[in-house]
Amino acid sequence: MSKNDICIYGDLVLKQKAAPVVEFDEKLKQTADEMFETMIETDGIGLAAPQVDISKAFLVIGMPHDNEEVERLFFANPEILETRGEIGLEEGCLSIPGIREEVVRPEWIRLRYQDLQGRLHEMETDGLLARVLQHEIDHLNGILFTDRLSPAKRGLLKGALEKLANSAGT
Ligand code: ZN
Repeated sequence: MSKNDICIYGDLVLKQKAAPVVEFDEKLKQTADEMFETMIETDGIGLAAPQVDISKAFLVIGMPHDNEEVERLFFANPEILETRGEIGLEEGCLSIPGIREEVVRPEWIRLRYQDLQGRLHEMETDGLLARVLQHEIDHLNGILFTDRLSPAKRGLLKGALEKLANSAGT
């Protein structure tokens, strides 16, 4: 898996709802490891399986820390249970290269997810992690951050997005 394997705006897999993860096997762990490497290689901080053409509900996140170490996080079948607040932050996406826009989302989330062994967890988070999680969970539901922009903003991006869609799959 390399950065060439990342699906770009216009690829149908990005518009599909991903299937739940049911098998927590060695293959899942291997795929997650590969996705993590691809994400680091492309300077991303999150990557959802549909972005590498796997329509399954899992994602990886690499949280940067002050000591330059990146914390590897894995989430399968994540589900947001509760949200609080609202905040606008600039987002980009490895599947929508060259476009960054401010997106308004809840500031705080509580979610349930499964780890690589299939164990169930619940967590609360805010800040950067809450933002990345919401962006990546959207990918699992076939939603891109550009879908969350106002119609006016989306209108302004129409040309650039069509250009990306035309280059996808070629
Ligand atoms: Zn994205």
